[in-house]
Formats: sequence, structure tokens, C-alpha cells
Amino acid sequence: MKTYPIPMVPGPVKVPQRVLQAYLTDYGAADLEPEYLSLYNQTEADLKQIMGTQHSVVIMTGEGMLALWAALKNFMKPGERLLCLGTGVFGYGIGDMARSLGIQVKTVGLPYNQTLHNWDEIESAIADFRPKMITAVHCETPSGTLNPIAPLGKLKERYEVPLLYVDAVASLGGAPVETDAWHVDLMLGGSQKALSVPPAMSFFTVSPAAWEIAKQVNYAGYDALLPFETAPQTGYFPYTPYWQGLAALHEGAQMLLEEGLPASFARHQRLAEMTRQRLVEMGYSLFPAPEAVPSPTVTAVQVPEGIEWTDFDRKLRERGLVVGGSYGPLAGKVFRLGHMGSQADPDLLEQALAVLKAVR
Ligand SMILES: *Cc1c(COP(=O)(O)O)cnc(C)c1O
Repeated sequence: MKTYPIPMVPGPVKVPQRVLQAYLTDYGAADLEPEYLSLYNQTEADLKQIMGTQHSVVIMTGEGMLALWAALKNFMKPGERLLCLGTGVFGYGIGDMARSLGIQVKTVGLPYNQTLHNWDEIESAIADFRPKMITAVHCETPSGTLNPIAPLGKLKERYEVPLLYVDAVASLGGAPVETDAWHVDLMLGGSQKALSVPPAMSFFTVSPAAWEIAKQVNYAGYDALLPFETAPQTGYFPYTPYWQGLAALHEGAQMLLEEGLPASFARHQRLAEMTRQRLVEMGYSLFPAPEAVPSPTVTAVQVPEGIEWTDFDRKLRERGLVVGGSYGPLAGKVFRLGHMGSQADPDLLEQALAVLKAVR
């Protein structure tokens, strides 16, 4: 199979050797060994730091989308009200997912190149609709944007909305994520973005209020939350745990904590600014509107005029660079250069920018 020396798709990202190493051990049956339980608890403690929470973090086998579904199904029953804030493919998509579960969804949305700033509109929607849950996305990966979450947390508190759900899959580790300070009940993460682990594991924070609501809903399924309430003490998980996947996630989290969160955030910020500046100098147009907040983990760029995305993509691949296309209404119009986790590397970005300059 062909591999590319400059892999800049915004997830899954290039996996460091140290993380890959975690897959090479035959650990045995996780449900029988105390070492597994201790690895689970250590990884939870690491993720609590990375996610800025004192509450629980539940870790499940399965990639990011599992957390997006589980954090709906365990807390919402058909007919209950959910306010969906959309500024891109994932934000609106979560509303569609909720609707497919029979949840009553009201959407307050903005164009895909903007970030949340319409606080008055959001406030009146909360006051009128009285949702049980509000959903939002921190880093909207297909748009290369970062939504501010702190102001939303204030509205959640003021109107006593029971649950705030935030998808931080693509920002976690590359940008500050302050679950408790922002009053987020369910902060969602995945392994394959800035944690630089293959798409194997997903996890989300559960506030004390969210645990209570999950008990009322009492959802049963592979992605059920309730068995995880006691599992970290008893070692009785609802299915055979994926030891290698958890070991890899632990390694990814450790690498981030060894670097230090502030250092990681500064690295992502600096390289993202450099990337945007250089692309503009080459004559590329950035996708986010000038007043929107660009993400420190991914840059979304307009496909240049006069060339089809498929031809553009082929030219980049011929020179060893793979970037991400985009989705939904942005498909064919926008491409994305990831700079998250292992990709937020000055040498790798220089190589990517040199190719983008050569094909311009
Ligand atoms: C990557 C990502 C997910 C998880 O989806 P995948 O199927 O793993 O791509 C969820 N939300 C956001 C914002 C993401 O970027």
C-alpha cells in the first residue's frame, strides 16, 4: 500500500512510535487482571487533567462517533427537547442524529464559515424552547473553526439547562478545554486527533447531574453508560475491554502531559498562525470568515479557482502530501490541512507548505 511522507489529514494523524509500541504487547484478558483496571484508572486521571474536569471520564472502545451517539442516547428520551447549535458539518449533524432518535430538536445555526457569536439569539431560543440539552462543537473540523464555549456555559447556568454537550474531539490536547469552568456536563473526545492515537477509543466527561439523568433514562445498549459507573472500582466492564487500545490512549495522553498542556497549546497556536499567514502570502484564501475564530488544530482553505478538487488532490499526492477534503456543502470547495498532535511539527508543516506553494 502507498504511504505518503507528509500526512496532513486532520485525523487520523500520524501515530508516534511510542504509541504504536503499545499495540505490540499481548496483555492477556483485561477483565481478569488488576493491571488493566489500574491502567484504566490512570488513563481516566490523565484525561481529567486534559479535559479540565474533577468529575468522571468514561472511556469506551470505539472511535469518536461512539461518544457523539452515547452522549445523546444515554441522556435523552424520544420527545424530549434538544437545542442544537450549528456552525458546520458536525454541529448540524448532531441535530440530525438526535432527530433520528425521536428527540425534538430546535436548531440555531450560522453559516459554516462562522463561529458562535449570536448570543442574544441563543439566549432567546433557550428561554422559549426550554431544552433539556444544548449541543455544540468546539473545533468544527470541516470548517477549521473553534467555537467559544465559555459564554454558552454561562447561559446554561443562568437558565438552568440540565445538560450541556460539547464535541471537543478535534480540539482536545491542542487547545484549552475547560469542562468544569465552562459548565459542560458531557465533553466528548476521541483518540485519533491531537492525542495522536489510532481511531480506537472514545471518551466523555460525565458531571454528577448527568449521572443522575442517565439513571432516569436507563438506556441499554453496547454504548450504555451505566455499567461504567462501578466498573472502575469492580473491574466488571460490560464487554471485553480493548487493552491495546487503552494502552495506546494512555501513551498518547502521557506524551501530552509530559510536554505540558500549556506548551502543547502554545505549539499548536504558533504553528496554526504561521500556517495561515504563509498560505495567505501564497495567494490561498482561508475558509473561515475574518471575524470567526480559526482553530489551532486545523486550517480550512478554499480550493483554488480554476482547478477541480480531485486534480488538486492528485497534484499534492504526487508530491507526497495528503490533506483532507471537506464534507457536506463544503465538499470539493474546501480542503483542510491538519496540524494537530504529531502533525503540529515545524518540519512537517514546512514540507506541507512547500508542496502547497509548488502547486499554487
Ligand atoms: C473526527 C471528529 C469526530 C469523530 O468522527 P470520525 O468519524 O472519527 O472522523 C467527531 N467530531 C469532530 C468535530 C471531529 O473532528
